[in-house]
Amino acid sequence: MLDLPFDPIKRAREVEEAVMQGLARKYYRFRPARYYGGIATADLVGCPFLCAYCWNYGRNLHPEMTRDRYYSPQEVANRLLVIVKRKGFNKVRLSGAEPILGEQSFEHLYQVLNDIYKTNPGLDFILETNGLLLGSGPGFVRRLSQFERLGVRVALKGYDDKSFQDISGSERRFFALPMKGLGDMIREGINAWPAIMYEIFGPEGIGKINQELKGYEIRPEELEIEYLEPYPSVLENLKKRSISLHM
Ligand code: SF4
Repeated sequence: MLDLPFDPIKRAREVEEAVMQGLARKYYRFRPARYYGGIATADLVGCPFLCAYCWNYGRNLHPEMTRDRYYSPQEVANRLLVIVKRKGFNKVRLSGAEPILGEQSFEHLYQVLNDIYKTNPGLDFILETNGLLLGSGPGFVRRLSQFERLGVRVALKGYDDKSFQDISGSERRFFALPMKGLGDMIREGINAWPAIMYEIFGPEGIGKINQELKGYEIRPEELEIEYLEPYPSVLENLKKRSISLHM
């Protein structure tokens, strides 16, 4: 049982222990996906947040209980490269959970990036993250800045501290960390941008988050807006947390 709200940094440490074995990490799927015009995708297990609208809620609630396999960085890179070749894609990504939980998972990610770029330097790598550890982790941003074709999409979970807590399950005092991580990446020259879920934010929430982002010198036109996949389990979880949708 996970009591809400929780400390997401503490939870990140616990989740990292559950999904890492040395530098190998739990993944549950490798697939071609239609997003970004076609992209090879590796779906991870383990996230420090527990968002009400997470389509991977069960796995992220109990990452220690899944029977998914652990993959070394080289195995992950190889599987992605096979999909790229088979489908003729020029993009790869990690999705399904949070790639960066701490030092160990960061090192795994770093080696995946290195292995991919050693073989195919022309690929675009999209890192989908909630940004929490990038705003608090030691030196992660600087190490990522060496990868020229890396794009980092930071999915923001709330437009103020209350909505952040309601949506992510994390204590409200951590609201600013993902935006700090985003600002740090942009300053380091990384191609990074914020993304939000329209139905959760609504026009008012979008106005508020744009005000927050201004403080990090991020312009409104850089905000990516995505739309909710209304799976029954997602709608049920949103209802349980009394979150109403903007349609
Ligand atoms: S940050 Fe993403 S993966 Fe993590 S719980 Fe939220 S929606 Fe799911």
